[in-house]
Amino acid sequence: MIDGDAALALVCHRNHRMSFVFEAAQTAGIRLMLIYDSSESEPPHGLPGVVGYWRLPVFEDPDAALKEFVDGAGTRGLGGVMTLREEAIIWTAEAARRLGTPGIPPAVAALVRNKYRMRQALAQAGLRTPTFAHINDPGDISSVESLGFPLVIKPLAGWGSAGVMLARSVEELHERIRTVWAMQERDLSRFYEKTDTPGLVVEQYLPGKEFVAECFVDGDGVHVMAVGDKGHPQGPWFEETIYRLREDLDSVQVMALREAACAGVKALGITMGAAHVEMRLDAEGLPYVIEIGARIGGSGVSHFIVEQGTGISLAELCMLQALGLPTSPLPDALPVRKVSANYIIPLRGEGRFCGFIGMDAVRQHPETARVLTFFEPGHIVPPPPAFGGYPGFIFSVHPTQAAARSYHRWLDDTLCNEWEDVSP
Ligand code: ADP
Ligand code: CA
Repeated sequence: MIDGDAALALVCHRNHRMSFVFEAAQTAGIRLMLIYDSSESEPPHGLPGVVGYWRLPVFEDPDAALKEFVDGAGTRGLGGVMTLREEAIIWTAEAARRLGTPGIPPAVAALVRNKYRMRQALAQAGLRTPTFAHINDPGDISSVESLGFPLVIKPLAGWGSAGVMLARSVEELHERIRTVWAMQERDLSRFYEKTDTPGLVVEQYLPGKEFVAECFVDGDGVHVMAVGDKGHPQGPWFEETIYRLREDLDSVQVMALREAACAGVKALGITMGAAHVEMRLDAEGLPYVIEIGARIGGSGVSHFIVEQGTGISLAELCMLQALGLPTSPLPDALPVRKVSANYIIPLRGEGRFCGFIGMDAVRQHPETARVLTFFEPGHIVPPPPAFGGYPGFIFSVHPTQAAARSYHRWLDDTLCNEWEDVSP
């Protein structure tokens, strides 16, 4: 039974410091029950909007966790379930199905969690797609050499660009496939569906700039809530760099990005909720879908961008919908009121992290909205290709795109990290 007082289960939030979704729940009067995996640490108490915590073996034993969840949901007053965590998308879809509350079909969840099958579905729907191939044996890669170079290698079901690498030659391809394969076995395999064997996707490199569209799907169809610039990572690794909202909604480029994003979301069969659509341009400037996350992006970054830019709470829409509650009709395009942005502090080093230099000036800047740092002094960052992680995010709000660009240039010049060598 769903009623207006039911709480929403939020599954395995990656980082409690990314609190935008908690704050959005509190503002909307939605009560959250945080489900956390039994192998991960309990979230701190006192988070906004959070009324309870529930430890379940979501990653360790998904079937047992589902049974326990469905058996205990009634006594806990749960009326829906949602996640922002890429690795928990399939579990959450299955939990909603068993609970009888709104969610994407588990088969769609499985599709969006497998980069090879996602590519196949986008190609079948007639969308522009780089040539691509699947590898399930790192010792036999003859099939991918014929794709031409440069190529991008990625784990079948990764996230956050971890293990995604560029190869410019046959030699690099051999070496990097071994590297990414080992990284996948070590860091990712525990999150893979028991039925999915590990594997890699290898695909043609798209040389153009990167963009993102934040979509919300309801009974009326796919709504593009925001389009943003995502910089121009060019390998060999593809760390995230910046996110700046686009205000030029009528420009040819933004219109083409909106169209490509909508077509991608429809092609994958995402029937509700948020869809975080990453795109890149080819040499001719045409947009291609890189991948689609069936969730609010960046553990809530996407909510910040949409809400600060348009005044619409993306997280509230998603939470209400997951609870089976009505949401207001949305216009075709949301006017941009302010230009919201996120700057991912670049590593620019490795070894022992000693601290940030210039952070006081950043905190005092009038356009800075929030600073979140994830590294403490003493934190060790391994040399690439290991995933070094992100030192922190700088969220900001600006009157124009040009102001956002110059703020990010100012951050490039103002902020740096201090490192100490730890090589033997
Ligand atoms: P993840 O799920 O780990 O984020 P993605 O498929 O989104 O994996 O790839 C991560 C990043 O790698 C992208 O944001 C993009 O910068 C780069 N990338 C991925 N595929 C391509 C491609 N075909 N051409 C160019 N860059 C790519
Ligand atoms: Ca991605």
